[in-house]
Amino acid sequence: SLSIGIVGLPNVGKSTLFNALTKNDVLAANYPFATIEPNIGVVGVPDPRLDKLAEIFGSQRKLPATVDFVDIAGIVRGASEGQGLGNKFLANIRESDAICQVIRAFEDPDVVHVDGKISPGDDIETINTELILADLQTIEKALPRLQKEARLKKETAAVVTAVEEAQKILEQGTTVFAAGLDREPLRELHLLTAKPFLYVFNVDEEELVNEEFKDRMRALVAPAEAIFLNAKIESELIELDDAEALELLQAMGQEEPGLATLGRVGFNTLGLQTYLTAGPKESRAWTIKKGATAPEAAGVIHTDFQKGFIKAEVISYDDLVATGSVAEARSAGKARMEGKDYVMQDGDVVEFRFNV
Ligand code: GDP
Repeated sequence: SLSIGIVGLPNVGKSTLFNALTKNDVLAANYPFATIEPNIGVVGVPDPRLDKLAEIFGSQRKLPATVDFVDIAGIVRGASEGQGLGNKFLANIRESDAICQVIRAFEDPDVVHVDGKISPGDDIETINTELILADLQTIEKALPRLQKEARLKKETAAVVTAVEEAQKILEQGTTVFAAGLDREPLRELHLLTAKPFLYVFNVDEEELVNEEFKDRMRALVAPAEAIFLNAKIESELIELDDAEALELLQAMGQEEPGLATLGRVGFNTLGLQTYLTAGPKESRAWTIKKGATAPEAAGVIHTDFQKGFIKAEVISYDDLVATGSVAEARSAGKARMEGKDYVMQDGDVVEFRFNV
């Protein structure tokens, strides 16, 4: 499955956040047979539709979609020079499908900042510089070969043009993602800065509700999404029961835990969407890529469902809630039989028909 790599300078709160992610019990509570890997934190994607479905179907449990976060230690200045930790860092980040930068914005005289001062803008630049330098090296290595190939193959000429444009952008200190370049012709280079980015600002409690500060940070990282949380408080929140957690959140002027926001934003950043299944046993959100067809969606449940796919009975979530039950939706003509070319829409409630 797709994963998001967590990176950041030392002492910004990565481990604290990551511990909260791994202690978060989405997996343990809902997927008792899942293997839990030590360097992967799994977070649920909040989805109020599951509550409603569970109510309609009398489901015993609700299973949200999840996002995997991978702890990638070792960003240091000079990582792109490929020394020691740097090499491992770059290899790990290359395997991630998106990059989550944790940026320190909390003040604490007891926690040393590597550069001696709290400056989110400078920290972002430090990290991005390493990623940009690594990409420039990748490009310098690949270009001569691509240019040679382009003399014989027309398709490669388009790749060369795209790579040269990326090189120019990177030399100006901008990431491929921020520049919004078309990733397709660059695909084979696996550039680090072409991956989608998101930013977690680890902030003091006051900053959680400081709109001026948050707007400034959002502007700094756009078009990437910015999330504001306090890693220490997040790790305390998961120890509390729901009522206590809600009380603490409300006292801080927050609507949901930062981890929940992180799950939702991470999911969107990866370009994923969900469809829903529901029954007395469980209401569940299944993860698919945007544009997935009905058989591909069935394959997420079981490969046999994809192989033996016949058709899918689809009711949109809104229609199901409006009519109140599958039977009512059917008699109102809101249940559609879709074939193998159907492209899934977010919020489709589905029952697959298949041969075994
Ligand atoms: P890492 O090096 O990025 O993994 O950072 P750690 O998670 O180990 O955090 C470094 C230090 O900062 C630890 O002593 C944490 O307890 C502390 N820390 C982490 N998050 C916060 C926070 O939100 N506020 C404060 N005051 N301290 C924090």
